[in-house]
This record gives sequence, C-alpha cells and structure tokens, in this order.
Amino acid sequence: MKICRQALYVQIIDGIGTVRACGWAGYYLLGNLRDNTMSEVYNSEAAKRFRQTLIEGTYDYCNEENCPYMANNILESQLVEIEKIPEYPEIVSLAYDRRCNYHCTCCISRCDDKMDPVVQEKVEREIRAALPYVKTFSANGLGEFFVSDSMMELVSEWKPEEIEGAKFELETNGSLLNEKNWKKVENIGDADLSVTLTVHSFEEAAYQYLSGTKMKISQMEENLRFVKKLREEGKINFLEIAMVMQERNFRTLPDFIDRCLNEFGADKVRVRRFLPEKAMDENIEWFFDIRNPLHPYHQEYLEVMKHPVFNDPRVFKWTGEHLSNRGELPAKANYKVLKDLFLTENVGEKLSDYFLSQGYRRIILYAITDIAKAIVKVLQNQPVKIEYIYDRNTCLGEWEGLEVRKPLYKDLKKTKGPLLVTLVPRHGEMEGFLRHQGYEGEILCLEQILENVKFQS
Ligand code: SF4
Ligand code: SF4
Repeated sequence: MKICRQALYVQIIDGIGTVRACGWAGYYLLGNLRDNTMSEVYNSEAAKRFRQTLIEGTYDYCNEENCPYMANNILESQLVEIEKIPEYPEIVSLAYDRRCNYHCTCCISRCDDKMDPVVQEKVEREIRAALPYVKTFSANGLGEFFVSDSMMELVSEWKPEEIEGAKFELETNGSLLNEKNWKKVENIGDADLSVTLTVHSFEEAAYQYLSGTKMKISQMEENLRFVKKLREEGKINFLEIAMVMQERNFRTLPDFIDRCLNEFGADKVRVRRFLPEKAMDENIEWFFDIRNPLHPYHQEYLEVMKHPVFNDPRVFKWTGEHLSNRGELPAKANYKVLKDLFLTENVGEKLSDYFLSQGYRRIILYAITDIAKAIVKVLQNQPVKIEYIYDRNTCLGEWEGLEVRKPLYKDLKKTKGPLLVTLVPRHGEMEGFLRHQGYEGEILCLEQILENVKFQS
C-alpha cells in the first residue's frame, strides 16, 4: 500500500506520555504511555482510523496550511510503499519534556513543569522498548532538547550503528549546542544526522525579543560556528537553519538567509510562517502575521519577498506563495458583528426572515464562539432552527443545547448545509478549510448577512 510516511510516526508530547500522530495534522491523539504500552498506542483504534484516512487519501485530519507537503503540492514525495503497518513505529519523536530555556513569541509548546518521576520512568520504559525498531529518531519539536536530562539520556542509549539506514533529526534552538553538550549525545553522529536549528534573527534586539532570552547573539554565533565544524567533519549530514518570519524580523530576512548559507554553512534555510495559535492575545498575534494582506506592512513584506535570495533552491518557504487568510483584526471584526447583533432591533426575526427568504429552514453553525452563542440566543423561538454545530477543536459533544460534531471529510461531504461561519474574523480561512474537507454546500457570511438585514424595517 502507498501511504504518507508519517503513518509510521509517533510523537510523545507531554508529561503523561501522550502520543500523537503527525504534528501537522493538529492534535490527533493516539493514546498515552502512562496507561498503555507503545505497541498498544500505535495500534489503537484512533491510530487505525488516522491511518485509514491516509490510505484512502481523504486526509481528514491533515491541515493544508500546516503541512508543508500539501502547501507546496509535493505530497507525492512523502508517500512510501509498505506491505503492512509494523508493530512499533519506525519514526519516533521525543517531545514529552517540554521545558525550554527560551520564551519565543510564537511558542505554544514550552512549559516549566518537571515530570512526575514515576510517570517519567514508565514513559522512558515504553520508549526504550521501541528503540530497537526505531529507524528515524528525533527530538525535540516541543521544548528544548538540551534542557531535558531524560531525553538526552535516552538518546545517548540509542545505537544507530546497529540499525540499517538509521537517521536522527535534531531540532534545537541552538543556545546549548556547544562542545560539552554534544559530547553527551555524540552517538547520534553515527546516524544520518540532520540538525534543524532555529534562530529568529541575527539582530540582537530582535533575536532576544522573539526568543524571550537575554543570551547575546554572539554566543549563538559561536555555537553556529561549532555546528558548522561538525557539518564540515561529516558528523552532521544536513544542517538546516530555521526561523519564524514575523513583523519584527521580516525586513532583515535577505541578510539573515545570506549569513545562514554563506557564513554558517547551512544546507537549507527554512522560512516558516507565523501562525497565530493563541500564544498571545489574538489581536497582538494578528500584528505579527505580515503575510496577511490586511496587515499594514504587508506591501513592504511583498517587496522583501522579491529579493533574489528567495530563488535560491536552498531556501524553503514553508507556505510557498500562500498568503495568510486570517482576515481582519479579530477585535475589529468581532466588534462589528456583535454590535450589529446587539443593536439591531428584532435581529432574530430579521435573520430568520432572511434565511427563510433564501429557502433555509435549518442552518448549521461553524464553530463554537461567543458569536455562535449570540446567534443561538437571537434565533430562539424563531421558525429557523439550528441543526447542530461543527467545531474541530473541541472535545465537547454538546454545547448550548446543540449537538457538536467534528468536521470530518466523510460527514462534510454529505452535509447539505447551509453552514453559517461564526468564527467571523477567520471567515476566509474557514471557507478554505471547509472546501478542502469536501463540503460542497452554501457557506454563509454572517457579516454580510447582517449588513443586508440591519436596515430592514
Ligand atoms: S499529509 Fe501532511 S499532515 Fe497529513 S500525515 Fe502526511 S505529512 Fe502529516
Ligand atoms: S525554542 Fe522557542 S519555540 Fe522552541 S520550545 Fe523553546 S520557546 Fe518554544
């Protein structure tokens, strides 16, 4: 069978050993290592369901904006031919210890808590059981590897020389990647070792602000020179320097890329997009996202992106040419709609009349928001009924008396609709998501509908 390589992947993401599938497929959880064995988790019903969507090509849980293969239309390169799913995952990513010495502006991953020692011991035991089967090992997508004594210990026990084609993928902020720490895990140099090192800027003020550190950039540059030496000696086989492009650092991107490639010997520079993920207030985050055409610096961003350095094949733009479709500043967009909902006289009746005039006796909401709550209230006792609500980021089964459903491909494909998007500031993004998930019915824009109905007597 042909399947996305990430079907063979698990990531252990927290202090109870929660295991998730591909990180670009959101938080799709397979189980946890506190209560189960690695084999049980990897072969759980949830895991089988996830893999089935990859086999059938519906990619229900995959997110086009997050997945670089989908965003760049190169998913085919990620497909592998396998006979059957093995008992243990072949690709294991360690991210259960999420402590980090940085506080990046874009981060929703880090935490300061140490693990419960008993649970930690169980989680480590389960990972040890899988080690002989692990062909590709990685750490740490969600915290800083060199802060975690547990992960460094586990990795130091791995024997890549005994595994054919062993690979190690190290993700680090680089602040502690010096000779002393390298010595503790230098066995990874026996694998095909790729290192992704994230530096947000070489300009000290921007670097410190975006990373939430007081470390001098000169220290980071020294570490980068050490890493370059490892690359030249062949201990590192592939060096990628990554950054998250945002309002504070986009202007210096061409110079940043040039230094990564020519001074620090990077094989690749990965320019990641800033994704508002509620690491900060959503309105502040909105201002970091210069890919949004509504951002005041967006034109300047487009000019920067015309620089010839972006044509260098060693530069990887995470989202290709895609722009952000996050829409208007959330506070502004929400305020406008909530104001209309609160201040328009008989708004429930007017909305109901509008839906009936369009032939809609029933509508479906998307998604759980304060605006959805207001809609539920104003449509109470009106002839138009809300059937249920779709929301992809909740574990609730019921909300405000409505059934909550997950927007899965197989269900959306059959949904007649219409769907009223209540995540108003992100209407465009939600529309894109729903179409991608196979929904073919009407998608209603609440802001436009309120504009239509509010002046009607
Ligand atoms: S298609 Fe993309 S998001 Fe889905 S499993 Fe594969 S790599 Fe992950
Ligand atoms: S380096 Fe930054 S993004 Fe990575 S875990 Fe630490 S704080 Fe988060």
